[in-house]
Amino acid sequence: MSRAVVIGAGPAGLMAAEMLGRAGLEVTLCDAKPSVGRKFLMAGKSGLNLTKDEPPTPFMEVYAEARAPLTPIIAAFDASAVQDWARGLGQDVFTGSTGRVFPTSMKASPLLRAWLARLAGLGVQIRTRWHWQGWQGDALAFQTPEGAGTVQADVTVLALGGASWPRLGATGTWAEILHARSVDLAAFTPANAGVAVDWSDHMVRHFGAPIKGGAWSAGPFQSRGEASLSAGGLEGGGIYAVSRGLREGHDLSLDLLPDLSVPEITTRLAKPRGKASLSNHLRKVLNLTPAQIALIQEMARPLPEGLRATARVLKALPIRHAGLRPMAEAISTAGGVRFGALDDNLMLRDLPGVFVAGEMLDWEAPTGGYLINACLATGRWAGQQAAAWVKH
Ligand SMILES: Cc1cc2nc3c(=O)[nH]c(=O)nc-3n(C[C@H](O)[C@H](O)[C@H](O)COP(=O)(O)OP(=O)(O)OC[C@H]3O[C@@H](n4cnc5c(N)ncnc54)[C@H](O)[C@@H]3O)c2cc1C
Repeated sequence: MSRAVVIGAGPAGLMAAEMLGRAGLEVTLCDAKPSVGRKFLMAGKSGLNLTKDEPPTPFMEVYAEARAPLTPIIAAFDASAVQDWARGLGQDVFTGSTGRVFPTSMKASPLLRAWLARLAGLGVQIRTRWHWQGWQGDALAFQTPEGAGTVQADVTVLALGGASWPRLGATGTWAEILHARSVDLAAFTPANAGVAVDWSDHMVRHFGAPIKGGAWSAGPFQSRGEASLSAGGLEGGGIYAVSRGLREGHDLSLDLLPDLSVPEITTRLAKPRGKASLSNHLRKVLNLTPAQIALIQEMARPLPEGLRATARVLKALPIRHAGLRPMAEAISTAGGVRFGALDDNLMLRDLPGVFVAGEMLDWEAPTGGYLINACLATGRWAGQQAAAWVKH
């Protein structure tokens, strides 16, 4: 029986191992951490968004430059296939108002438990605390609790993740190993990252407060999502969705009232103010929250003379910032193995028999279920193609 080794037990590696197990191979799934799927479990803490229930055209557009190579792979395991797969593991799913799909439990742990039971049924052997070091001759070299060792594999799937949240396992150190083998890599950069802001002391009491209902923009990227004020800056889906624009050097701005025009806001501002402070007036006539008003003061004080000029500021509040938060805090990373280094089966052209899947590939996407869907789909593709390759 041929032996397949899958390295990295996140959603991509788990899926690759399942495919190889189903194809009847002897499968060993190794991970450096003491337990598997740590980032997947962390993703479940804030509601595990498995995919987005929307037609292929808007769905695939989010992958931007990687759209072409990912299209056949995601078409073979699309949003509806992901939902069926989750149900097959006994996890009911529901679609939220924005099309995001979650397990009813919202968590990753029941799904992971059922998945591991399925893998055990397929005979997949899991080895934790096995830290892959590269190759020694043809063999895969690991540092394990028992010391250094090698494993001979007939076929290998690498699913080592990106380079964010390194404490959960995705350290990105694999890039040095592949670079030494002349694999073409794009440098890692933060994707879906928060923005760093050097706040004045006035803002401290608003930390934790959400900024809702606004429209964020940075160059061509726009988002109506929410963000929260934090000691480090601004965090949350609204900011993550435009973080690529910031990374590419565009300014960040916030339309606090995207459903009102400048003349409509001006009319409301013109209502009698009496002795009310500007803050109270903004709160009363425009329903702005204390956190929104504090943000306006922080970024635009002194407000310009004239109601129309003030209205314009509220429609395009410039957010001064100190760049993106560090990569270690980002939800995901861009960069990794370039598609040009791979054939259509996700096998490294220069390392026959070595397949690559998941976030270690050079693609990025906003949050919203697109990340896990692509990890599952590439893991499935790499696992299936690896099984087909070894059998020939
Ligand atoms: C807080 C948070 C919330 C998120 N929420 C969502 C969400 O709701 N929806 C969504 O789509 N995405 C979400 N994501 C992103 C998603 O979790 C990742 O994109 C996904 O886990 C990547 O899967 P992967 O299998 O490619 O890599 P990972 O899940 O990172 O797994 C890689 C594995 O490789 C192992 N590894 C690395 N190097 C080695 C080595 N040298 N030797 C052995 N093992 C190694 C690691 O230990 C790790 O277990 C979230 C991420 C975070 C941080």
